[in-house]
Amino acid sequence: MTRLVLKFGGTSVANLDRIRASALHVKREVDAGHEVAVVVSAMAGKTNELVAWCRDASPLHDAREYDAVVASGEQVTAGLMALTLQHMGINARSWQGWQVPILTSDQHGSARVEALNGQHLIARLKERREVAVIAGFQGLHKETGRITTLGRGGSDTSAVVIAAAIGAERCDIYTDVDGVYTTDPRVVAKARRMERVAFEEMLEMASLGAKVLQVRSVEAAMVHKVKVFVRSSFDDPVASASSGTLICAEEDIMEQQVVTGIAFSRDEAQITLRGVVDKPGVAAAIFGPLADAAINVDMIIQVVSDDTTTTDMTFTVPTADFERAKTILESAKSAIVYATLHGTNDVVKVSAIGIGMRSHAGVAARAFRALADKGINIRAITTSEIKFSVLIDAAYTELAVRTLHTLYGLDQA
Ligand code: ADP
Ligand code: ASP
Ligand code: MG
Repeated sequence: MTRLVLKFGGTSVANLDRIRASALHVKREVDAGHEVAVVVSAMAGKTNELVAWCRDASPLHDAREYDAVVASGEQVTAGLMALTLQHMGINARSWQGWQVPILTSDQHGSARVEALNGQHLIARLKERREVAVIAGFQGLHKETGRITTLGRGGSDTSAVVIAAAIGAERCDIYTDVDGVYTTDPRVVAKARRMERVAFEEMLEMASLGAKVLQVRSVEAAMVHKVKVFVRSSFDDPVASASSGTLICAEEDIMEQQVVTGIAFSRDEAQITLRGVVDKPGVAAAIFGPLADAAINVDMIIQVVSDDTTTTDMTFTVPTADFERAKTILESAKSAIVYATLHGTNDVVKVSAIGIGMRSHAGVAARAFRALADKGINIRAITTSEIKFSVLIDAAYTELAVRTLHTLYGLDQA
């Protein structure tokens, strides 16, 4: 007998038919004699709708009330999944985040899971042979007693931390694609499914835009050594074998490519300050106020002018913080001392990821040449041990992703 966590994302619970189809996957595991905990997302599109309602009601909304609203999507699907399972003759009970309880920090909107005692869930799984259906994405801040949410895509993280807490053998992430691909299969038809991908690579892929798993879920899986298997809820629920991708330790991958995947993120905005008076402390004057406002600055380029008295500073921030960043920099103009501020949302960050980059030189240089040959201008570059990223005009996203995918031999035959 095995203990498993099965997580179903938004498309997998988009309506009652999809919930029934997903419940059949649960039934297969229960019939095989396994102890099963299920984690569900909100119905597809629901969280976006709830977020939009919060913005409409109050543009500068109170984060605690935002969480009270957006956590409701998962509450509905947890109950509906439990009802569906019961209707199939399976003993099942729904759990809200506060009932488990999944205790988190008080960072509303992107809270971190701090404690989760799985003993109560384990007892119910064992003694009552009861499937636990847990609402993903939500938790509880104990001191204030308020509901929190774990950030967009957070049900993946709920699933992994629950798997760790109940000592599950595996955490199966059921989604609308049958695994992790070399790049987003909805953008590149030649993307290939990977049988296995290393934690470190998956972490980079997720943080650089591959939203198939939330970044924190990969972090949690790495830390707690949870086996994560990504597969499709659209697969035949009674078939014994299924295709998918196992997220695992680097040592468990036999053949390592230099570049294993290409990711892209439209969640970038570029800001350029021109004619910045070049003196010690200028970077601190620019980035200090942004850090104080919890705005994450990503790529940074500083170009010193010929006269060496001024400099141009280009950097990126998340699109959601673009307006706020501009306002902060405008109000700090006299402290920073610069001539002009330009900004654009019309950029995308394209990244190549691969553990093999550690031991191969010149991997990024090949990309710069290939992109130049296609007439794609690179606005900024960043590199680190196992990835590099380029910032380009958004209009070239697909061309750039396809170019790099082909360049590194990732296209499927
Ligand atoms: P869920 O609602 O099940 O959580 P998501 O929409 O969050 O599903 O994530 C699945 C989507 O991630 C896929 O539909 C796919 O378009 C996208 N995606 C982006 N990059 C990749 C990748 N490298 N491999 C697989 N899917 C990817
Ligand atoms: N429903 C939440 C979202 O859309 C959490 C999730 O689906 O993982 O972000
Ligand atoms: Mg998701």
